[in-house]
Amino acid sequence: LTEKLQNVFKNLRSKGRLTEADVQEALKEIKRALLAADVNFKVVKDFIKTVQERAVGQDVMNGLNPGQMVIKIVNEELCNLMGSETTEIKLQPGSAITVIMMAGLQGAGKTTTTAKLAGKFKLKGKKPLLVACDVYRPAAIKQLQINGEKQGVEVFTMGDNHKPANIAKAAIEHAQKNGNNLVILDTAGRLHIDEDMMAELEEIKNTVTVHQTILVIDAMTGQDAVNVAKEFDEKIGVDGVIVTKLDGDTRGGAALSVKAVTGKPILYVGMGEKLSDLEQFYPDRMANRILGMGDVLSLIEKAEAELDIDEDKAKEMSKKMKKAQFDFDDYLESIKQMKKLGGLGNIMNMLPGLGGMGMGKMKGLGDEQMDEAEKGMARMEAMIHSMTPAERRDPDLLNPSRKHRIAKGAGVDISEVNRMIKQFNEAKKMMKTFAKPGKKGKFKLPF
Ligand code: GDP
Ligand code: MG
Repeated sequence: LTEKLQNVFKNLRSKGRLTEADVQEALKEIKRALLAADVNFKVVKDFIKTVQERAVGQDVMNGLNPGQMVIKIVNEELCNLMGSETTEIKLQPGSAITVIMMAGLQGAGKTTTTAKLAGKFKLKGKKPLLVACDVYRPAAIKQLQINGEKQGVEVFTMGDNHKPANIAKAAIEHAQKNGNNLVILDTAGRLHIDEDMMAELEEIKNTVTVHQTILVIDAMTGQDAVNVAKEFDEKIGVDGVIVTKLDGDTRGGAALSVKAVTGKPILYVGMGEKLSDLEQFYPDRMANRILGMGDVLSLIEKAEAELDIDEDKAKEMSKKMKKAQFDFDDYLESIKQMKKLGGLGNIMNMLPGLGGMGMGKMKGLGDEQMDEAEKGMARMEAMIHSMTPAERRDPDLLNPSRKHRIAKGAGVDISEVNRMIKQFNEAKKMMKTFAKPGKKGKFKLPF
């Protein structure tokens, strides 16, 4: 999350509702973040429009602040754009041979990905045959052979003086005799979109039955990824996309653009040069990565889940608060709630500059102070645990000798017991003031 972006959300924090101006201001930064992530500018434009239409006037969900609400909508729309779930490569049924053709620009990662895929399918019980259809560079054939050997799968080559379409045909015949049920054609790329390259791929498709054409795109292609994907799809037809080199520091905007423009699913992502570095594509993870705000989102999800589950408890507690019947058991409960959200430090870490969940005042605490606050909370828990049930319900019972016993039980100084009781009484007083009748109760932590 860029600092700029954080600031926008910080500014949105204290407001009760999303106004058009708020949303516009936030989206200006989202737009910048998307462009910086190399998402195609036309895709960005459409995206911003969609989010704007959805966000303005929308009620802010319980448990979220307005800034988080905008992020939530942005994230949902990003996931929508990239497809709602993972997509598998479609194989022919039964023991029929599936022919996959790899396509893409030179250096995109076709040969590497061919071997990676072979490994994946071998694990699933397939018997792959890799086919060297890149006849322009002797090194390319060798590269496929080496990678195939590493994966323990067979590689079919006819050297470099045959047409790729004919090699493919011979390879499939070989597969039929040899019992291979998955044929992956590793083809040649060019540095740029090129008529000869397309013609060659077309010829392969006209000569043999290709069941799946997979476009390999380098994540670092940036803005141009959209044009590359469109061209390949229009000329030869693409069934799915694999985005490579996402282990680098690119944010992966190419993936978003390609999916948005071609509508073709992203099947896998390449996460390194090793042959095991091929991962399933998760739209939500990619959305997080593109915006660079993964942790914030996971907190929002957690907050949603917890608020959902504990709605009854929250209602009950709010009733108690209204009557100022809040006791130490409730205090303990709210500490538990907070822990469910990963503890104080975690909450603060996940909210860079957001300070949501009614914790805005704690923003600006340093690491040390945060540590201190966490420890304080743990000691508070220990003290409450050292109370008898009667004492928890009725703090007025806490005379000096009881306080001594509690301090000893919790391993803290008596002054700390006194401080907690004082804080507790203050919190209770505060609740009396804030809990106005008629207002819909909302679970708040008494810290
Ligand atoms: P091709 O020309 O399309 O066949 O591309 P190659 O498979 O030869 O890959 C080109 C270069 O990119 C090689 O050095 C690969 O090791 C590297 N490469 C491929 N996929 C990835 C990936 O996911 N991550 C990284 N870091 N490098 C990759
Ligand atoms: Mg290659």
